[in-house]
Amino acid sequence: STDDISDSETPGDKLIGGLLTADFNESSCLSRYHQSLLYRKPSPYKPSEYLVSKLRGYEKLHKRCGPGTKAYKEATKNLGHDEIYVGECKYVVWIADYGLGNRMLTIASVFLYALLTERIILLDNRKDVNDLFCEPFPGTSWLLPNDFELMKHFDGYNKEYSRCYGTMLNNHAINSSLIPPHLYLHNLHNSRDNDKMFFCQKDQSLIDKVPWLIFRANVYFVPSLWLNPTFQTELIKLFPQKETVFHHLARYLFHPTNQVWGMVTSYYHAHLSRADERLGIQIRIFRGDAGYFPHVMNQVVSCTQREKLLPALGTQEESKVNTSRSPKHKAVLVASLYPEYSKHLKKMFIEKNSSTGEIIDVYQPSGERFQQTDKKLHDQKALAEMYLLSLTDNIVTSARSTFGYVAYSLGGLKPWLLYQPNGLTTPDPPCGRSMSMEPCFLTPPSHGCEADWGTNSGKIVPFVKQCEDLWYDGLKLF
Ligand code: GDP
Repeated sequence: STDDISDSETPGDKLIGGLLTADFNESSCLSRYHQSLLYRKPSPYKPSEYLVSKLRGYEKLHKRCGPGTKAYKEATKNLGHDEIYVGECKYVVWIADYGLGNRMLTIASVFLYALLTERIILLDNRKDVNDLFCEPFPGTSWLLPNDFELMKHFDGYNKEYSRCYGTMLNNHAINSSLIPPHLYLHNLHNSRDNDKMFFCQKDQSLIDKVPWLIFRANVYFVPSLWLNPTFQTELIKLFPQKETVFHHLARYLFHPTNQVWGMVTSYYHAHLSRADERLGIQIRIFRGDAGYFPHVMNQVVSCTQREKLLPALGTQEESKVNTSRSPKHKAVLVASLYPEYSKHLKKMFIEKNSSTGEIIDVYQPSGERFQQTDKKLHDQKALAEMYLLSLTDNIVTSARSTFGYVAYSLGGLKPWLLYQPNGLTTPDPPCGRSMSMEPCFLTPPSHGCEADWGTNSGKIVPFVKQCEDLWYDGLKLF
């Protein structure tokens, strides 16, 4: 139960092994210190001392360079001109785009890049970031002030933009003696290798000198950072357990606001806290005509039964035999845009008891029907569900879904991935256990940097391999 967890924790553990700073007031953001104590089993994965000291150093830097400081004023003064500012602070700006799962993966990626390159991260706050997450760095803000001069142009930043790094490379417009005051880095599914390979050493030698980098991303590009030998040396020290990158970064960066935290805790107490075991199932349909599909329902049932996550349905006799006085209660938390999936699962277990006598209770917090990114309440529900899923004991997620990636990685769980169906048939096998709790970089560069040019990017570093959920495409840390 949750009480056992809090009893067994020492007071210091509310900082999750030093991952969090103690410099925040608790009530402004209840989730920050409470989530690990009251709701989550202690993570078996501890942050390295090196990561902890690097984060404390980063917090100091952010405070020194962040909005409202002298350094920030200096750095923004000549942004619109070609005059190059050489001050003490360098920045990386994250543009909000795509769904919430994508956003969380890219904030973590851009933050790690900032840690490696001694920049500070600032978030585009024109959407609802502020309604979702508390500030992660004490005594400063990670939100880009709304009067930031280039902000009005962000929507036009794409591959055609003259300061797009990949486009400049394509056009041979890079002149290492002319450092631009800002560069735009395009890291989307439709990026070219020239965009994706900004992390290579030869590219970094110029990029490193540019005071403002502006990223639009919808992919988890962390695995590719390990392909740069300089970064790799540092990353191995930061994350000796390689598959813990997002797990640690997410628990460091993403603290739901009190409003979202209220949704998480009330739902948890109402439906999940008393169960003996919790199973999370996330069902994402990637189709133009998305909705309820019998082949997906079959896939979920066949996966969970085959992997013994849910019991088989019993016959009348079995059910009678197995009716014990204190049957085991299993809570199943379903997350999907479509409420039919949980309705169907619930009906199955109401009509027929489980063969093991376990009591299966099925819950689905919402059924929003369609994605409504940037609507405050919709995004808050999505975040609350990712968190609720992360509090389960076992998790089944849809392959390729960044929503699912956030949920399992945050929870430190290796998921069972529901393979993406081909047409209207249930895949066989329906799912497979992932060997890693890291998110997948869905559209990585095709090859490595200089020395590894021409070598498939999944064959360069032994622990950066192809992902299981795409029938072996993409890149993932193991
Ligand atoms: P991805 O498209 O699966 O990679 O995940 P994203 O989070 O980037 O985008 C999907 C968006 O659709 C979410 O952010 C939500 O806005 C919405 N959505 C998808 N599935 C669910 C769900 O199970 N629950 C809720 N509340 N929203 C969902």
